[in-house]
Amino acid sequence: MTEAFAIVDPSTGAAFTEVGMADASEVDAAVRRAVRAQEGWAALAPADRARLLRRFAAVVDAHVEELATLEVRNSGHPIASARWEAGHVRDVLEYYSGAPERLIGSQIPVAGGIDVTFHEPLGVVGVIVPWNFPMTIAAWGFAPALAAGDAVVLKPAEWTPLTALRLAGLALEAGLPDGLLQTVPGRGADAGEALVRHPDVAKVVFTGSTRTGSRVMALAAEQVKPVTLELGGKSANIVFADADLDAAAAAAPGAVFDNAGQDCCARSRLLVERSVLDAFLERLEPAVVAWRVGDPRSEDVQMGPLVSAAHRDRVASFVDGSTPVAFRGSAPSGAGFWFAPAVLLPDRPDDRVLREEVFGPVVAVQAFDGEAEAVRLANETAYGLSGSIWTRDLGRGIRVSQAVRSGALSVNSNSSVRYTTPFGGMKRSGIGRELGPDAPLAFTALKNVFYATGEAPA
Ligand code: NDP
Repeated sequence: MTEAFAIVDPSTGAAFTEVGMADASEVDAAVRRAVRAQEGWAALAPADRARLLRRFAAVVDAHVEELATLEVRNSGHPIASARWEAGHVRDVLEYYSGAPERLIGSQIPVAGGIDVTFHEPLGVVGVIVPWNFPMTIAAWGFAPALAAGDAVVLKPAEWTPLTALRLAGLALEAGLPDGLLQTVPGRGADAGEALVRHPDVAKVVFTGSTRTGSRVMALAAEQVKPVTLELGGKSANIVFADADLDAAAAAAPGAVFDNAGQDCCARSRLLVERSVLDAFLERLEPAVVAWRVGDPRSEDVQMGPLVSAAHRDRVASFVDGSTPVAFRGSAPSGAGFWFAPAVLLPDRPDDRVLREEVFGPVVAVQAFDGEAEAVRLANETAYGLSGSIWTRDLGRGIRVSQAVRSGALSVNSNSSVRYTTPFGGMKRSGIGRELGPDAPLAFTALKNVFYATGEAPA
């Protein structure tokens, strides 16, 4: 039975629409439609699949402003960021529209015949996405899956289903077959689990918390179903004494407060070499104070509200007076889920702000002495998703990037995601990689066929 769920504008706290939450029977119906659609899709010529994906990208491009406006209202993302996110969906679709004609197998020399490998579609893929980047993370799953010849059933987070619903509508407008990309909004425990458990779902791509990811993996294991998991992070931004301190300090707020810190790549630990700690904090404070938090509809705002009241309360629990606060930025007061950015100076190594994913605009600063301690502290976490290293010493940049156990690092930069490069975590930050040139292969099964030619084997 479908239950109506109120969708709230995080900048006002007011509900503005409702979305029906699918139950297990609706998930089952969607998967059945997807099975039929996938058969026709896989039978199309690769060039026709490529053309339709390019058309989907063009239709998304024509709706960037509409999608961005929807995301501002549903998720509270600043309009400039939301526009970038919608454009990123277009770019990811364009990038993978080249893949259907490039799923090239190999011919392996063997005796007595010819041996050939094929990348075959898996069938129906379930893509479960979180509320922090509803559009982009969905595209990282559905674009390479469609390019590989699969159908996709997409379950958005219950708080943020609007852009995912619109993207499935745009796929139809672009001429993709009915049922090929379906969005099924619903609760994780109902629709999410039904999707993972469905015997006709051949693979699950999950992004979200490590706890839920491990539950999804356990459910998938019952059917020996492959999973890609993109989970939490507690990434370190390491600033060495020889770094360009002005550049490192100017970039540090964006590295953790972007998307209000609701980012699995957030550098929520700032490790600074002790000899420059004071000099660095002197530069960081004005950058944090200048960080513009406000109405996400405003063109020059850098950070909007948090996604919900419950999430704001969780983030606030890290700034409850038990950990020293160095300084804070500002945020609007009144209705809406506002939270002023905070820079903490934990004085105990077991402080939870150094261990747990905050998923909000809160950063913990720690001093270190020398390269070995920087690496030890950076790796002192169960996670391993992203991180940054700031130094003018190229050799040190290489050594430290090799020693930090994270899947996506940058040196003298805080960038984590480019659709042309692989992205994913080590340790409890996940399994598998998204994006990059090989992503469609993760949505295929490698088949090997030996064609005997009748000659006697050597
Ligand atoms: P979850 O991991 O619970 O949710 C992510 C997605 O999984 C949502 O679509 C959710 O649906 C769905 N889901 C929940 N339970 C199940 C289940 N049993 N089976 C299948 N799908 C399920 O994250 P939360 O939204 O609860 O966020 C909690 C914390 O997780 C955050 O505060 C943050 O620390 C971390 N997080 C990390 C993210 C990342 O990008 N790495 C993204 C989001 C959160 P529903 O919305 O209905 O619950």
